[in-house]
Amino acid sequence: MKTKRSMKLRTCEECESEINKGDQYGQRSKRVGGIEIKRGFSVMVPFYIKVDICAACAAEGIQQ
Ligand SMILES: [Zn+2]
Repeated sequence: MKTKRSMKLRTCEECESEINKGDQYGQRSKRVGGIEIKRGFSVMVPFYIKVDICAACAAEGIQQ
């Protein structure tokens, strides 16, 4: 995974460690389920959001 330099303080979505300003971090998309009501029926609507992960977790992602 390509990492980039963080311009602000972030939290890793995987291990919840802090990604400090100036640290390398990666981003990956995470599937989030949402429920939408359509014609009286509730349907699962998956959508993706971008989450921040630390360099260590980004490196692990490459091995998988
Ligand atoms: Zn992490």
